[in-house]
Amino acid sequence: MISSYKREPKIDENYDAIIIGSGIGSLSTAALLSKEGKKVLVLERHYVAGGFTHVFKRKGYEWDVGIHYIGEVQNQYSPIRKMFDYISNKKIKWEDMGEVYDKIIVGQKTYDFVKGVENFKSKMKSYFPDESSVIDKYVQLVFDANKAMKKFYLEKTLPNFLSSLFGFFLRGPYLKYSSKTTYEVLSSITKNQELIKVLTAQYGDYGLTPKLSSFAMHASVVKHYFKGGSFPVGGSSQIVKTIDPVIEKSGGQIIVRAHVKKIIIEKNKAIGVELEDGKKVFSNVIVSGVGVFNTCNQLISSKISKKLGFKKQLKSLNPSVAHGCLYIGLKGDAKSLKLPKNNLWIYQDHIDHDSAVELYLKDQSNEFPLVYISFPSAKDPSWNDRYPGRSTIDIITLLPYESFEKWEGSSWKKRGPEYENTKEDISKRLLEHLFNHLPNLRDKIDYYELSSPLTTKHFVNYQKGELYGIDHSPQRFEQKFLRPKTNIKGLYLTGQDIVSAGVGGALFSGLITSASITGVNFMKKIYQ
Ligand SMILES: Cc1cc2nc3c(=O)[nH]c(=O)nc-3n(C[C@H](O)[C@H](O)[C@H](O)COP(=O)(O)OP(=O)(O)OC[C@H]3O[C@@H](n4cnc5c(N)ncnc54)[C@H](O)[C@@H]3O)c2cc1C
Repeated sequence: MISSYKREPKIDENYDAIIIGSGIGSLSTAALLSKEGKKVLVLERHYVAGGFTHVFKRKGYEWDVGIHYIGEVQNQYSPIRKMFDYISNKKIKWEDMGEVYDKIIVGQKTYDFVKGVENFKSKMKSYFPDESSVIDKYVQLVFDANKAMKKFYLEKTLPNFLSSLFGFFLRGPYLKYSSKTTYEVLSSITKNQELIKVLTAQYGDYGLTPKLSSFAMHASVVKHYFKGGSFPVGGSSQIVKTIDPVIEKSGGQIIVRAHVKKIIIEKNKAIGVELEDGKKVFSNVIVSGVGVFNTCNQLISSKISKKLGFKKQLKSLNPSVAHGCLYIGLKGDAKSLKLPKNNLWIYQDHIDHDSAVELYLKDQSNEFPLVYISFPSAKDPSWNDRYPGRSTIDIITLLPYESFEKWEGSSWKKRGPEYENTKEDISKRLLEHLFNHLPNLRDKIDYYELSSPLTTKHFVNYQKGELYGIDHSPQRFEQKFLRPKTNIKGLYLTGQDIVSAGVGGALFSGLITSASITGVNFMKKIYQ
């Protein structure tokens, strides 16, 4: 059972590994090590485990924070599904979202992203009949980039001396795609700006517009959903619930309300961690899954960070954008409210994604550059048994951290009337988008609450409220230091920053981190 450090701290003297943070990267690392018989301690500062896979409850509703859909889990032989099955002992179950997973709305026009590569291509060709060969070329490029990806991540598990000998050959083919922006690649195959806008409509899944994002990241997200989207049966909390017993079986445990203040390093070797109250716990293996910025700026001293060159390397990277999510509760079930399973991506007409974001960042009274609406209760087949006669909706948009910075020193729920009024204005604007598309919901809203970048900072500790860790720019993929093994003996990194944002990316960070620690070929194990 997951325990709380504040109530019943049952921390042992020794662990084979200590993992900081309990996001999916940390959980998969912990589970893989536990399956090798290691005793692992996972320390989480929040009062709920799971990182962005946690859920929260209010007024009789439950909302998932960082999972709206996951690709490739319906295929029981896909690497993601195999990984989830392995680390949860096949306990996590998935529900398919159906034929259409994303509906792209641009002004008055709607474009469906449908399940299956050939279906996707045909659908896009029906919208853009003159661009048939461009669509084929685009899909091929998406596959080519993904093919090159495997070796790129394999390189991250190599010891330094092997990496310096063979690293370039493994990284090079992927860098060909990652060093170009999404827009550069797309505009090299078509001049049709509307097509580019539609094909890049999922940019919210990685948080960076086409002219700024790396094509490699775009290709990875697009391919991830080609075979449709799925949702965890029972909601996102099932992830930590099903992985926890695997960790406990080897004597390990997850402890919440356990804020790690620093990593103890002696003679360039990580030997333990110190908690906020001064308690020290020791191990030869320390894994940080709290993001690279947090690891370098909070958990190791500035001197060590500088010595290792982390400070300099981090300067070339930016935190990703921040967001706000309007969590909505409605009386009535998904059927009676006619809630779809697919997500809606809503964009303005006559303006490209980059310009829309630029305008909005200059002045937030301008139209939202993107509004994303997800219907989680409609996606979960167990929802009606768990919450009969109720439904939930999430609406997400970009909210720059800087606009909320002035309330930084205030406490959660006590940030004052100006903050609440700002949130109320944003909430009302977001609700209008919902009612535009689902007018029957206008009088059905029972409860709503908007999170801000400060909420993300408060609960998940991302200092700029970032949505996806480090930005997925071309520069990010050039950083060799974003790998599990650090130059400090015994200190490893995991989580979205060393692979990519998304549950799938963070999940695989666990695989490469565990492989770097143990030398075990986990890919072989999960396919046994
Ligand atoms: C709004 C939103 C929607 C998303 N939707 C999707 C989606 O539909 N599909 C998808 O695949 N991905 C989605 N993602 C992305 C996905 O959720 C993340 O990429 C992934 O969960 C990140 O996992 P992680 O392992 O890097 O750790 P995180 O989830 O970032 O967790 C890090 C953990 O470390 C803890 N921590 C920080 N500092 C300390 C400390 N000092 N001591 C102890 N603990 C600490 C934090 O509290 C946190 O729990 C979404 C993300 C967001 C924010």
